[in-house]
Amino acid sequence: MMSTVIFSQRNYQRTLKLMGSRFDLTVVANDSATANSYMDLAVDEITRIEKLISSWDPNSRTSEINKNAGIKPVKVESELYELIKRAIGISKLTDGAFDISYASMDRIWKFDGSMKTMPSEEEIKSSVAKVGFQNIVLDPVAQTVFLKLPGMKIGFGAIGKGYAADKAKQLLMDRGVPAGIINASGDMNTWGKQPDGESWKVAITNPMNKNKVFALLPITDGAVVTSGDYERYVTFNGKRYAHIIDPRTGYPSTGIISVTVFAPKAELADALATSVFVMGKEIGLDRINQLPKVECIIIDEKGNISKSDNIEIDKL
Ligand code: ADP
Ligand code: MG
Repeated sequence: MMSTVIFSQRNYQRTLKLMGSRFDLTVVANDSATANSYMDLAVDEITRIEKLISSWDPNSRTSEINKNAGIKPVKVESELYELIKRAIGISKLTDGAFDISYASMDRIWKFDGSMKTMPSEEEIKSSVAKVGFQNIVLDPVAQTVFLKLPGMKIGFGAIGKGYAADKAKQLLMDRGVPAGIINASGDMNTWGKQPDGESWKVAITNPMNKNKVFALLPITDGAVVTSGDYERYVTFNGKRYAHIIDPRTGYPSTGIISVTVFAPKAELADALATSVFVMGKEIGLDRINQLPKVECIIIDEKGNISKSDNIEIDKL
């Protein structure tokens, strides 16, 4: 009898655009009406989060914080307060490689082929003048956030999709959905197993050779995030500058073309994937190896693959 129950379940999928990105939702359910109601819940949750953290929506709470930079503290929902607090924690963990105040950086680098000369050292330095997580002031009693410098801004581009994936997963788990995947353009969190008893599997591709999957990893309950964009870079004097910029120096990151991070939460994995890009292979791996339950795979610009100490890959 047990097997009848198990095999009447199947995977249902929906793809849609949320937070300016492609989301692929997968849930295990007994029928499509149930699956649809679950997916509607996930969509509502992700939409709610977008309203809180969007920097494009002038009416979001995040925009209100940014508009009041250098002027006054803004009272925020405890959810947003805690998210900002955790983001500052990741800044400390990565010595500022990760920094939500990256958002005020002047866009002096262009990665669309239009750039002919390198910006001057002076320009590069001043592009990050307003960046610095040390100037995000939190008041735990008043639950306010204050950006000290006029013109300062925060943005959740490197953590928001991961956070949304975590929250949608949690909501569906609480509703009793046995298994699923919330995939926010490569930032994903999974839970449970497929109806046939198999683990969810995540394919890791080498951006140097996009048609070839080099590893297939089973994921039972956790997040996988890949950061990287093989196409967006600019070359000066034979050096390849990738699109993620070091918020401490204003220089684009070099050497790495793709980082995949595994962690219990997509929020942490998302933030760390961007951080490893900025920290580089050696420091990045060293930091990841110190964190329990966090692993990573790095692909450098020569196509070499490095991985953290405790990861097991089934080579294809
Ligand atoms: P993706 O958009 O593919 O998820 P990432 O996760 O690597 O890519 O995040 C890149 C985005 O993160 C950038 O578009 C920008 O919004 C933001 N960002 C860039 N550099 C940093 C940084 N050093 N710290 C925090 N956020 C960053
Ligand atoms: Mg990211």
